[in-house]
Amino acid sequence: MKSIESLYIGGRWCPANSSETITVINPATEQPCATIPKANEQDVIRAIEAARAAFDDWAASSAETRAALMLATADEMQARYDDLVDAHVSSMGCPVSLAGYLHIDAAIEGLRYYAARAARMDEISEQENVTVIKEPIGVCAFINPWNYPLHQLMGKLAPALAAGCTIVTKPAEQTPLQDFIMAEIFDKVGLPAGVFNLVSGSGREIGPLMSGHPQVDMVSFTGSTAAGIQVALSAADTVKRVCQELGGKSPLIITEDADLEAAVRYGVADVMANTGQTCNALTRMLVPASRYNEAVDIAVAAAAEQRVGDPRDPEVTMGPMASNRQRETVIGYIEQGIKEGARLVCGGTQAPSGLEQGAYVQPTIFADVTPDMTIAREEIFGPVLCMISYDDPEDAIAIANDSIYGLAAGVYAKDQASAMAIARRLKAGQCYTQGGYFTIKAPFGGYKQSGNGREWGEHGLDEFIETKAIIGPSD
Ligand code: NAD
Repeated sequence: MKSIESLYIGGRWCPANSSETITVINPATEQPCATIPKANEQDVIRAIEAARAAFDDWAASSAETRAALMLATADEMQARYDDLVDAHVSSMGCPVSLAGYLHIDAAIEGLRYYAARAARMDEISEQENVTVIKEPIGVCAFINPWNYPLHQLMGKLAPALAAGCTIVTKPAEQTPLQDFIMAEIFDKVGLPAGVFNLVSGSGREIGPLMSGHPQVDMVSFTGSTAAGIQVALSAADTVKRVCQELGGKSPLIITEDADLEAAVRYGVADVMANTGQTCNALTRMLVPASRYNEAVDIAVAAAAEQRVGDPRDPEVTMGPMASNRQRETVIGYIEQGIKEGARLVCGGTQAPSGLEQGAYVQPTIFADVTPDMTIAREEIFGPVLCMISYDDPEDAIAIANDSIYGLAAGVYAKDQASAMAIARRLKAGQCYTQGGYFTIKAPFGGYKQSGNGREWGEHGLDEFIETKAIIGPSD
């Protein structure tokens, strides 16, 4: 078992203020795989002070300097690829066959993408006596979830570094290992001391200090809507910028004239990826009543193709849930679905055969789900698909938009033009048409209670920029 003794603060590995530790559990074996320090308030204050002290120099560094360090970091991540894969396999049970593709490749690509955009900070716009320039917002606090631990970190870290911000980051308690690897990498490539600071600890205990501290200029939070609200409340007194990336309950509308086989298979694969622990998963499949039974049969056949098992087996496509706690939450929702009268067509509350140990859940599909059922309204965050039938396309759009969330949506229609016409009417930050997928080139974020931030793409950099106007005398 790995024992990590130190936090990374001010460019140094230093012991945490308290001797308390957090044990990281491998959800496939239910055995501890690492211990990490549990940072307390003094550690957070030290990290914020280090980030503050480093800010002026880093903000004044040239775009070339920042880009070169970011590219060196990306190269070193490539060199440490196997370690990054192992961090995801051991702490969240991600199958080794998917870890690189789902978690690491886009993080490395994202760092390179924003390195190429560091020079955007030097863009100036001039109009008569008004000059508008860009400045980095300052010290940023990042609080991250366990479901895409490296990817979510990088969606914040890469644009923040490109902009010239300094950072204090806190990984989720369950999945901290990749953050420690990143600290080792930054140490090796020579990122200036204090630009990146890592505190591992309890969100409830140190999260409010990170978001409320007056020396923190911006807090970027990814996680549940409930915790995101707490972060915004803690941040309110200091009127800092708050970027929230929260939960979802995203619809996939399949039209009557769509290629049903392709559409349903796409939807099932999307929900089952990462064992259903994906904030933008298309978990509500809306199917025309005329093709409903056919769609259910295709979905059941597609789910049966998932290979559930030991994430270290290269043939496996679905590992355990990231924790036993998450497994219990998902099982609770499956029980609720059965109780409310949805028809279980595959999966269920039993562990997959032969996988009684570990946080495993069967790929599960409910048919005859109605929009008012709990499983159609709340985020389950597990491999559970809800299939809802509709009579008329207008109803499908109304059902799709009838949610407190608005993170993502999907449309599968006869062709791209028809899909686009529906996509324009959906209240969601990203809309995937005809089998489209997430890409780091596109802004990602939510409508409604899915959050207010935009990560990735050109817009992802804007979150870390203050716009300053310098106004001379008018003629
Ligand atoms: P969570 O809210 O329980 O935890 C997220 C982080 O917040 C953790 O680091 C945790 O320690 C910290 N935290 C918990 N309580 C806090 C508090 N009161 N103040 C400050 N920090 C606190 O969420 P989770 O279970 O780790 O992640 C799953 C959720 O994240 C899902 O709802 C999912 O949809 C969402 N998510 C959203 C996105 C997105 O980009 N919109 C991406 C990934 C995950």
